[in-house]
Amino acid sequence: MKRILITGAAGFLGSHLCDRFIKEGYYVIGMDNLITGSIKNIEHLFKLEQFEFYHHDVSKYIHVPGQVDYILHFASPASPIDYLKIPIQTLKVSSLGTHNILGLARAKKARVLVASTSEVYGDPTVHPQNEEYWGNVNPVGPRGCYDEAKRFMEAMTMAYNNVHGLETRIIRIFNTYGPRMRLNDGRVLPAFIGQALRGEDLTMFGDGSQTRSFCFVDDLVEGIYRLLLSDYHLPVNIGNPDEITIKEFGEEIIKLTGTNQKLVAKPLPKDDPKQRQPDITKAREILGWEPKVSRAEGLKITYDYFKNLSADELNHVEH
Ligand code: NAD
Ligand code: UDP
Repeated sequence: MKRILITGAAGFLGSHLCDRFIKEGYYVIGMDNLITGSIKNIEHLFKLEQFEFYHHDVSKYIHVPGQVDYILHFASPASPIDYLKIPIQTLKVSSLGTHNILGLARAKKARVLVASTSEVYGDPTVHPQNEEYWGNVNPVGPRGCYDEAKRFMEAMTMAYNNVHGLETRIIRIFNTYGPRMRLNDGRVLPAFIGQALRGEDLTMFGDGSQTRSFCFVDDLVEGIYRLLLSDYHLPVNIGNPDEITIKEFGEEIIKLTGTNQKLVAKPLPKDDPKQRQPDITKAREILGWEPKVSRAEGLKITYDYFKNLSADELNHVEH
């Protein structure tokens, strides 16, 4: 049985990855310090023999006994309100944490895939973004703690590949959504759906003309699975190229939820990227991957998940 270590296992994406690799017959070792994740996302796995969990901060030395064949490094706060609140931990997990993960991979002769992000392109001047674009990031702006840490993570991963011949994979993930997102994590989809469910107006930042391209989690997980098993070590974008303005997106959520509330404009956060759309030519050519779930289908599944949360979960909002 192949053994895979998944960091950030109790988070939104990490928990879906645990499910997928267990389904594929792997032994899954989950690791998380629960800073933004929740045990609830993985509690259904604790009864399984092929799952174990370490409550551990990956920015500190990592010890995992026994063989490890693969590592997925997904630990990191991912939502702007999270990483603005804990910028130092955010910088540490993708720098020190990545270094620890690469060292562990080297010791175990494991293949490692690191979760990078479309944020390495910053507020992009090239549209759509392909992997050859170097990006437009403000290192000292509020998003710098996340963007620069991820850029360092990519550089460190490439160095281990070049110097030590470590088998490495780099995925650049574009905005992804689905069940198990935290309703209060401040990202636009849970924010809008939470507001609709509580009967509040939907907070559109700026005039809503900025764009994003939303990928359903199952499609992303399939892309990660294929990239891990591929022999390609340079960065690959995975995302859904179906681009939409935030205003149109808000209108879609209003229609989906049937709320009587409206969109209200709030100040646009500093350095908020104006446009974002992945060029997925590489993923198509190298992995034979493209997204299958339309936004209409994916939003319905996600809305059904949020509708079933308890009143406590619904009303707990962070600012
Ligand atoms: P999330 O906040 O739901 O999950 C992150 C998990 O990492 C949490 O469970 C958190 O407790 C854990 N964590 C954070 N710091 C840690 C540390 N030092 N040690 C151990 N565990 C730690 O976020 P997510 O959306 O699931 O994102 C997961 C990964 O994917 C992140 O690396 C993120 O940068 C990347 N990513 C996500 C998206 C997206 O749209 N969701 C887009 C681009 C990149
Ligand atoms: N956004 C918004 N209202 C909210 C939360 C976010 O209009 O309540 C906007 C935000 O300004 C950005 C887009 O939605 O332009 C996506 O934001 P998110 O935090 O989900 O992700 P990111 O900016 O990291 O892509």
